[in-house]
Amino acid sequence: MAEAYDILIIGSGIAGVSAALSCRNRGKRVAVVANSLESQSLYKAEKITNYPGLELTGRDFAEKLQEQLDNCGADIIKGRALSVLSLGDSFGVAVGNDFYEAGAVILALGITRENLYPGESEFLGRGVSYCATCDGMLYKGKKVALIGSSAEAVEDVRFLREICSEVLHFPKPQRFEISGGMKVERLKAGQEEYAVDAVFIIKDSISVSKLADGLEKDKNGILVDRSMATSIPGIFAAGDCTGKPYQLAKAAGEGNIAALSACEYIDKKGV
Ligand SMILES: Cc1cc2nc3c(=O)[nH]c(=O)nc-3n(C[C@H](O)[C@H](O)[C@H](O)COP(=O)(O)OP(=O)(O)OC[C@H]3O[C@@H](n4cnc5c(N)ncnc54)[C@H](O)[C@@H]3O)c2cc1C
Repeated sequence: MAEAYDILIIGSGIAGVSAALSCRNRGKRVAVVANSLESQSLYKAEKITNYPGLELTGRDFAEKLQEQLDNCGADIIKGRALSVLSLGDSFGVAVGNDFYEAGAVILALGITRENLYPGESEFLGRGVSYCATCDGMLYKGKKVALIGSSAEAVEDVRFLREICSEVLHFPKPQRFEISGGMKVERLKAGQEEYAVDAVFIIKDSISVSKLADGLEKDKNGILVDRSMATSIPGIFAAGDCTGKPYQLAKAAGEGNIAALSACEYIDKKGV
């Protein structure tokens, strides 16, 4: 188990940065699991004209937020959180091969997509993996497929090619279907079918139901109350992942509320 924190924030968009700043102002030990800057919604926005006090391109705004995050005293964990597990009185968060412990967790994931490929859920852990570094060695000398186009996906393809007999890379989105018996045996990509032993799916985000078991959602996003508490005590959520409106001011405000609520939760528990 790696380092223990008071609060671990997943996502470094405006909601996650807002939460990190407020948690640090309250003197908490904070870590932020941060994906690439390019994966944030803000980074893609041409010009922001509805955020009070600022008028910037999305990219400039995202870079300013990143700078603030870098300087606020939170630890930055580069990568994708793969799962959040309850450890009783605290939570364990897996990022690649590492595992971090925290008293409370704030999800600031951006818009979450639940549409899984047919077979993805059924074969998760039986040939379907979200992490080549974690599971690649299980398929040494085997034929595998990787779906994804991010820098992480490209790096994973390179790594898998060192250890697997063959790696099929599918960078473009298309219809995929995973099938097999006890384990993955086939991947259908469009009209073509391939015999494979494993399918690595490297998306920017993990479906919420796979990230934290038991987290309730409604049609908008992760279900939260006015304190940004989710259905799991100790897990809070903020920003686009809680639903519309998908706007910066709402995401920043929710990040702040989630942070204050998480601090109160930690203080009450006396962690
Ligand atoms: C093109 C465009 C233009 C826009 N223009 C405007 C505008 O003019 N005004 C306005 O108010 N709003 C605008 N928006 C919306 C605004 O950008 C979003 O509402 C806001 O940025 C959401 O912030 P967030 O922190 O909730 O999510 P995001 O910015 O999406 O950040 C979430 C981060 O979490 C990461 N993440 C997800 N899962 C994981 C995981 N498992 N582990 C680690 N990291 C993870 C994501 O990769 C991402 O980096 C625009 C959006 C777009 C796409």
